[in-house]
Amino acid sequence: MKALLLEEYKKLRVADMPDPEAAADEVRIKVEACGICGSDIHGYDGSSGRRKPPIIMGHEAAGVVESVGIDASDIAPGTRVTFNPMLSCGECEYCKRGETNLCNSRMVLGVSCDEFHRHGAFAEYVTVPARNLYPVPNEVPFEHACMTEPVTVATHAINRTPVQDGDTAVVVGSGMIGLLTVQALLVAGCSKVIAVDLSNDKLKVAKELGAEHTLNPKDDDVVAKILEMTNGNGADIAVEVVGATPTLQTAIEVTRRGGSVTLVGNLAPTVDFAMQAAVTRELTLYGSCASNSEFPSALKLMQDGKIKVDPLITATASLEECPGWFDRLYSGEDGLMKVIVKPGE
Ligand SMILES: [Zn+2]
Ligand SMILES: [Zn+2]
Repeated sequence: MKALLLEEYKKLRVADMPDPEAAADEVRIKVEACGICGSDIHGYDGSSGRRKPPIIMGHEAAGVVESVGIDASDIAPGTRVTFNPMLSCGECEYCKRGETNLCNSRMVLGVSCDEFHRHGAFAEYVTVPARNLYPVPNEVPFEHACMTEPVTVATHAINRTPVQDGDTAVVVGSGMIGLLTVQALLVAGCSKVIAVDLSNDKLKVAKELGAEHTLNPKDDDVVAKILEMTNGNGADIAVEVVGATPTLQTAIEVTRRGGSVTLVGNLAPTVDFAMQAAVTRELTLYGSCASNSEFPSALKLMQDGKIKVDPLITATASLEECPGWFDRLYSGEDGLMKVIVKPGE
């Protein structure tokens, strides 16, 4: 099969690779669409240590079941599917509690690090355990279905957050996951969502997707403005979707006493933390990592148009066009969001 191989850091090549064989409890999927994730870009140069070459990256995918292992015979070839790229053991205490994203021996497809190595879906075929599959409704095109995983990252974060009807929420960071989080907060019952980002382009999309106000720290005193919008109290909820000191600081400062801050951003390993503010104002902090049971509900939200992914798609690309897109995304070119790879083209 054709696959996009990360041969060494910053060196991607379309290579001829052996077709992967489905194990007994797995299926082989013909990949129709696979999104390039921010984590692929951070892994590509070795800085995250999570894409050790040689590796086929790609964990946000959708396609058609092509063949099934002997223990996966209840799945019909031809079924349109997406999958949870986080593979869990099914047996540890966490898995038994349904917290598969916290599994003792979790692995992520398309990731290679010290603990594991598993090829992903920037390829014509990928193999996935049958229990990780979710059927995709016919109304959801593959280019949208491959974004189910990022949608679940947002909905999982909001499931972690105690949202009350009518709450005001602030989303700090309006990239891909931030823009999905804006929508997930509205679905969960927030009446007002304020989006914050350094890019006016992204803020424009946030507004289209339902954010009532948008603030750019380059132009606005974000904390003062949010206090003004919330009778001087601050927002009920803040979601940090960047993972850096200044954005965490903003999230804490804009949250009212007794409110909650959900941490999704995962860029810097450590940050300066306004501990005293969190203590004296009795903030509750929630960490949120990937997702677990949110796939069916995320697909339904996309099918019903309650979470829109179309405005987040910059381009679709063939495998051959991929190295060029990685260069552009890596350089931080303005205005780029999700690039979707179609290995069949
Ligand atoms: Zn991802
Ligand atoms: Zn487990």
